[in-house]
Amino acid sequence: MPSTLRRYELDLAGLGVPVVEVTGAAGGPTLTVLAGVHGCEYAPMAAVRQWSASLAARDLRGVVRAVPVLNLPAFRARSPFVLPEDGKNLNRCFPGDPAGTLADRLAHAAFSQLIMGSDALIDVHAGDLPEALEPFALYDTGVSEDQALDLAVAYGLGYVIRQAPGPGRAVAGSTSAAAAAAGIPAIIAEAGGCGLVEPAAVATHVRGLNAVLVALGMADPGQDQAGPATRVPDAGPVTLSQFIWLRCDHAGWWEPAVTPGESVRAGQLIGTVTSLDGARTLQAITAPTDGVPMFITSSPAVDADGLLLGLGAR
Ligand SMILES: [Zn+2]
Repeated sequence: MPSTLRRYELDLAGLGVPVVEVTGAAGGPTLTVLAGVHGCEYAPMAAVRQWSASLAARDLRGVVRAVPVLNLPAFRARSPFVLPEDGKNLNRCFPGDPAGTLADRLAHAAFSQLIMGSDALIDVHAGDLPEALEPFALYDTGVSEDQALDLAVAYGLGYVIRQAPGPGRAVAGSTSAAAAAAGIPAIIAEAGGCGLVEPAAVATHVRGLNAVLVALGMADPGQDQAGPATRVPDAGPVTLSQFIWLRCDHAGWWEPAVTPGESVRAGQLIGTVTSLDGARTLQAITAPTDGVPMFITSSPAVDADGLLLGLGAR
């Protein structure tokens, strides 16, 4: 029997955030899917728009709440990483603060009204406006981590990163970390980048979201028609436990020497920062360990202490 689809705006910190809610004819889990936590990651937004609309025609068990674009201020301003209002990265603000600035309040509202009460959370991302990316899924340690790992593997990307508190953890305050702390299985799934709506990256996310429905028992396999998407090897994803973010010392012109998804060895040159006139090498950046670049800053423009690359390592 088809499902019931309802579209509405949810008041989150005074913003009218669009929600597509699909209720299956049969009971089951509540799955929340967020896109647009970062305002310029378009492929996952396009995927959620397309995927959520497709659910009405499907037999579902349970409820899907899908948000195509959460971070409306950053989306409208085409502002990568941060909200223009307060300069904060929304995905460092969870579980949020109702007395804080707009990013803190939006995180708090999204956490309390969308993430809490969910049986699972999928937060879909891409490389931001100036970032190229190798598709991967990330989850955080906690009581629900076995279920989170199942979701990460089900999403069907080539790499899965397990984030534990400590030096191997790249970021705190993310959706997945806050959900994990609340005992909710959650993943961040990344595909796409560079401000593009690449059809392959959109298809990768749609296929991943459909696989999550099956993994949660909310849908039967084979109902969806997956388009051409990046496919994980049959052996399953490579599991990584470190996510090392490399930064430059000086502002200048960044030129990577490697590509996302390429295996690099400890000590290998992974890029240089040169003076803007091209005359001087300011810094040669080498890999601190064997690993695989998960994302690389694709823009040559870097500031002092600018983020260059995220290296996944075992
Ligand atoms: Zn993101």
